[in-house]
Amino acid sequence: KLAGRLQEAIDRLRGRGRITEEDLKATLREIRRALMDADVNLEVVRAFVESVREKALGQKVLESLTPAEVVLATVYEALKEALGGEPRFPTLKNQNLWFLVGLQGSGKTTTAAKLALFYKGKGRRPLLVAADTQRPAAREQLRILGEKIGVPVLEVQDGESFESIRRRVEERARQEVRDLILVDTAGRLQIDEPLMAELARLKEAMNPDEVLLVLDAMTGQEALSVAKAFDERVGVTGLILTKLDGDARGGAALSARHVTGKPIYFAGVSERPEGLEPFYPDRLASRILGMGDVATLAEKVRAAGLEAETPKSAKELTLEDFLKQMQNLKRLGSFSEILAMLPGVGKALPAGLQVDDKAIKRLEAIVLSMTPEERKDPRILNASRRKRIARGSGTSVQEINRFIKAFEETKALMKSLEKNKGRGLMGMFRR
Ligand code: GDP
Ligand code: MG
Repeated sequence: KLAGRLQEAIDRLRGRGRITEEDLKATLREIRRALMDADVNLEVVRAFVESVREKALGQKVLESLTPAEVVLATVYEALKEALGGEPRFPTLKNQNLWFLVGLQGSGKTTTAAKLALFYKGKGRRPLLVAADTQRPAAREQLRILGEKIGVPVLEVQDGESFESIRRRVEERARQEVRDLILVDTAGRLQIDEPLMAELARLKEAMNPDEVLLVLDAMTGQEALSVAKAFDERVGVTGLILTKLDGDARGGAALSARHVTGKPIYFAGVSERPEGLEPFYPDRLASRILGMGDVATLAEKVRAAGLEAETPKSAKELTLEDFLKQMQNLKRLGSFSEILAMLPGVGKALPAGLQVDDKAIKRLEAIVLSMTPEERKDPRILNASRRKRIARGSGTSVQEINRFIKAFEETKALMKSLEKNKGRGLMGMFRR
């Protein structure tokens, strides 16, 4: 598995004081091998590794960070960049004609319906065109999908000329005021010349604004040749990656993006018409690294300079420590956003505990109104003590109850984490 290999390579640098060229060389060798194991094309691997090398060596911050952090951050950033950086969308004009092309089974028909639904939700008026005459069932499939999402489907007839298709589509679009025409084309199991020639001629006849290549994320090594062939013969303007809900790591995206240089616009994440998302390069980079969004988190934590403030064990945790954690989390960004990134933790922590400036101020007031004993061991906080603290801090008993409950839950969570990892709550941020 790619993730395991990369992690190993990165772990090898953990605990060393400085990164040397020798270290970097060895790590990059591992990264290269790991990417190839994941079916990323050799050419792509070479280009990627080269970009990482340049970036890692150019880093000036090497002394202040551990080598593992530098390599992790650099690999992550380079992957994100290689995948396109930021999410992008096709340019929408007043009138739009888009082709969906790709191998049979890649998800063209499904994606056509998904795009129709997505843009319908944005106020567009789509028209689906079933131009796959290779398989009789293909047109029926699109007709059914169209009915389901309430988008009309124009069906191409067997043997219909390109000229006739173009005319009928134009007429229908004019009559019904359709401004986004999505043409579902035929695919084959493999690249084959007659199909490419036909697609090229259909394109010439209809002059689409976008030719979107639909790629199955499960396609490994093949993605490169498929993307290359479609781009050379038909001319691709953008990519859509399907079946990202499966366990594919996404090496196909890297290859296809590299060989075409075209943006990846969308990701398919389920079989259903709603299962389409904008493509987020950072998410796929994390996924290729097999680290979830913990990679993002690790960076955020590092940026906030929290390394030194890792708390003690659950047993020793005081309310003051807990308050400090809250203050730290606030510096990192919204509490819920952070929690959402931590696998399995979101549920374990107190729901509805807002960590904004105002809330933090109130929590600070609560802690300040406690005696040192109470801060150390909130179990002694009986009803009369809580009432006293509420009065002293200008808060309410309910607020204090909520705070204590959150503290107890966090403590319990830390305890369970310690069992697995021997680290405190903040330790999770660092893996
Ligand atoms: P086409 O031959 O390129 O038109 O491919 P289809 O649209 O018919 O899709 C082939 C199969 O893949 C169907 O069973 C779809 O339901 C499935 N499929 C397409 N996109 C996705 C996706 O994003 N996730 C999952 N899980 N299945 C998908
Ligand atoms: Mg189809």
